[in-house]
Amino acid sequence: MRVKRADDASALFSRRVRFPSRWRGLGDNVFEVKLVVQVKLLPTPEQAAALEATLRTVNDAATWVAALAHSQRVFRNYDLRRHVYGQVKDRYGLAAQAAQHVIKKVADAYTTLHAHVRNGNLGKRGSVRRERVLARPIVFRPGAAQPFDDRCLSWRMDARTVSIWTVGGRMKGVAFTASADQLTLLAAHRKGESDLLYRDGRWFLIATCDLPDVPVRAPDGFVGVDLGIANIATTATGTGDGVRHSGKTLNAVRHRHRELRRRLQAKATKSAKRLLRKRRRKEARFAADTNHTIARRIVTEAARTGRGIALEDLQGIRDRVRLRKPQRVTLHAWSFHQLGHFIAYKAARAGVALVWVDPAYTSQACSACGHVAKNNRPDQETFACTSCGFAEHADVNAARNIAARGETGWAVSHAA
Ligand SMILES: [Zn+2]
Repeated sequence: MRVKRADDASALFSRRVRFPSRWRGLGDNVFEVKLVVQVKLLPTPEQAAALEATLRTVNDAATWVAALAHSQRVFRNYDLRRHVYGQVKDRYGLAAQAAQHVIKKVADAYTTLHAHVRNGNLGKRGSVRRERVLARPIVFRPGAAQPFDDRCLSWRMDARTVSIWTVGGRMKGVAFTASADQLTLLAAHRKGESDLLYRDGRWFLIATCDLPDVPVRAPDGFVGVDLGIANIATTATGTGDGVRHSGKTLNAVRHRHRELRRRLQAKATKSAKRLLRKRRRKEARFAADTNHTIARRIVTEAARTGRGIALEDLQGIRDRVRLRKPQRVTLHAWSFHQLGHFIAYKAARAGVALVWVDPAYTSQACSACGHVAKNNRPDQETFACTSCGFAEHADVNAARNIAARGETGWAVSHAA
């Protein structure tokens, strides 16, 4: 099996972006924010050939190091470097920095793999899948991501070009595109390594930005965010009207892709597999775009009205999305996590207070009188309180409950 690596967008996201969960960061009213900015490169054909040769070489080198690490049972960066640094440099004609990055990449990949094994993600001890994965060294794809630090990569923001180390020497003037927002971010806050990767016929640099702490403003009330499938997000204040962000388009895209996947999976050809991978990434990109848009709207509105944002605790979301099909669970749970993360970091950037709340019974409790009952919810869309008669769209009622919990949570944590 091929182990998923950091060139996968989702893996990158979880690897690079750390977010405070629950109350962390609220005590002193600041969040630390790391942002990942994806920049598309526009190399000339000659430049593309040099990039291609470079990425192929470093990944060949990584595969070679990984095989050695596997056979010698040496996995730690420091030990591995002592073993192979000179060899990998000479054998593949790498610059010192590149050789070090290759070795560290291999060490990191094994660390991740071993963590997966420890957490039982590859099955129990002795399971066929786990044994098969452990029996073989990690293999790096020719286009897999490679980190470049400031010595190997420099950015010229005014010219919108980068200069980058390649196997053929330093290459200057590689053009890139980025949105105005991204350019501002990069110019002000880019820090540390960037990953070069090749995906679906395109070149990218994934840069990390460290944002300074933005003080969180004391909120004037809270808006609750209820996450769902029919409506991706529904927002409401404790008593106000709700705003529903429909999942219609996203669900239609997912449905279309699912149909196509079924057809492609029936054909087991190489090109079908490639198309399948491409489709999956396209769907993920679309979901991410949708989540970005929704998160931006929610945070902008909260900032405009001076409110804080209450989100259901992510663990709870995972528990709640128990659909029958396991694949769908992962997909939606992942998408919820992503939306939660997007809201969290956009809120942090805007100085908007954010509170994670306990999601238990938010859909069954009456936001008017507090009565909790399963049959308060006659169907998916409707909330009708069996005690006080209050009726509202089910998602709006849930969002109001979440807003109220946010308010309470904030008050508790900020009591004098
Ligand atoms: Zn009621």
